[in-house]
Amino acid sequence: MNPKMVNCGNLVKRSLKDTVKCLDGAKFYRNPDRPTKKIWTNSECSKYYLCLDGEVFEFKCSVGLLFDVSRQICDFKQNVDNCDVTAEERVPKPLLESAQCAESSQLGCGDGTCLPNEYFCDGSVDCPDGSDEGWCDVDNDPNAAEACDLSLCTLPECFCSKDGTLIPGRLEPGQVPQMILLTFDDAINFENWDLYTTKIFTPNRKNPNGCPIKATFYISHQYTNYAQVQKTWNDGHEIGIHSITHRGPEEWWSKNATIEDWFDEMVGQANIVNKFGNVRMEDLRGMRVPFLRVGWNRQFLMMKEFGFVYDSSMVAPFSNPPLWPYTLDYKMPHTCTGNNQNCPSRSYPGIWEMVMNQLEAGEYNCGMVDSCPPHLNGEDVYRMLTHNFKRHYLTNRAPFGLYFHSTWFKKLEYLDAFTKFMDDLGKLPDVYFVTKYQAIQWMRHPTPSNQINQFEPWNCKGKSLEANEVACNIPHTCKLHSRVLQQDRFLYTCNECPAQYPWIRNEFGLD
Ligand SMILES: [Zn+2]
Repeated sequence: MNPKMVNCGNLVKRSLKDTVKCLDGAKFYRNPDRPTKKIWTNSECSKYYLCLDGEVFEFKCSVGLLFDVSRQICDFKQNVDNCDVTAEERVPKPLLESAQCAESSQLGCGDGTCLPNEYFCDGSVDCPDGSDEGWCDVDNDPNAAEACDLSLCTLPECFCSKDGTLIPGRLEPGQVPQMILLTFDDAINFENWDLYTTKIFTPNRKNPNGCPIKATFYISHQYTNYAQVQKTWNDGHEIGIHSITHRGPEEWWSKNATIEDWFDEMVGQANIVNKFGNVRMEDLRGMRVPFLRVGWNRQFLMMKEFGFVYDSSMVAPFSNPPLWPYTLDYKMPHTCTGNNQNCPSRSYPGIWEMVMNQLEAGEYNCGMVDSCPPHLNGEDVYRMLTHNFKRHYLTNRAPFGLYFHSTWFKKLEYLDAFTKFMDDLGKLPDVYFVTKYQAIQWMRHPTPSNQINQFEPWNCKGKSLEANEVACNIPHTCKLHSRVLQQDRFLYTCNECPAQYPWIRNEFGLD
């Protein structure tokens, strides 16, 4: 479902100073004096208000939708369970230094309680008023990452720039090979196998150094065929992690998931891909959060502990010229706005953010290609791809990311537009389709186009695979019961079938 669909409420342009109370705080709220017996009615629960400079404005969700006060959007009735909540509770702001705590290593809660400064924004509530965890974005976390310091942040480990548009290694744009980063999210299976192997990654499509073009696949567990994952990895593509359950509601990932949940979902999926797809653990380097709902410091703590090299879930505000990926040693170079993201506030040295630049499609911007307006025809899509490619190729040559779900290609005119676009790029001498990790390797060691044939991470010698790492021709078809899903599921693997359908906290499918 396109979130835009449920985002739009209709403003009733009317000042209501005298009938509805002003609740200041720059957030939408419900009428605090609405009659109790009407609280759960559709008409009352679809109304919401905003108070600006003492003036109250009334809004109403489109017909069929109710207002969700915690997510601050209109949504379908079955997704809204807070009609009885008037306004989102705002935790008081901590006093921090202004509490003038006796110990220099302490900061003040909103109520004046002094606590060690590391208790602030560590993910668990310590202040009696909860204020230590209520204001933890990049601008309010007292332990937030500092602004980029170019003299301390040096390649290959660290890369930052003030506005995010700087080319690594101080190369001139003309020397930079233009990287194209194709990604495909969710399951790999018979539904999309032909698309990948016979339509997109055909033997004739090669990079200028003679190697086959490459992409990155973020795999979620359900319906994935692990024999095909293994083959995809054998072919030199990158396998990334996209969770076991891909569960809803969307904001669970950004708001509720605990550090343990992050481990269960992401490390668990890495274990599954390794166990049933025989992909080496050390090759599972990157992740993308379902729905791009970035999970604040909790997600990145898990990444640091497990050893993920990068995340690719953050959508930056539209930027022209576009942004280069960066490491999270320092404060990120853009605001945290896309799709209710909850960006990390702390420093995570050496972890890369493969930031998602938005595409420009007429008056729209889109993060994923398939979130672009659905009314585009094939010709529009072709023009849109070309237009955005030029915004990268003719400016700072930041890697050009194109992010897909395979269903987008079901529209044949889209597939044709995309392959035509790919074939245009194939004629350019300095355009390379590479994996996310290959892009990181280039950024760690920026290599001009005229030396790129000697750049080892982009060659296609391939690693020598052990016998069990080579994908089988005929996988085992395992019909397995899932106690959690209360259904049977098929699992395809070159290995032995497990006893149970693998799931969180039982990722090896043991009995
Ligand atoms: Zn997904």
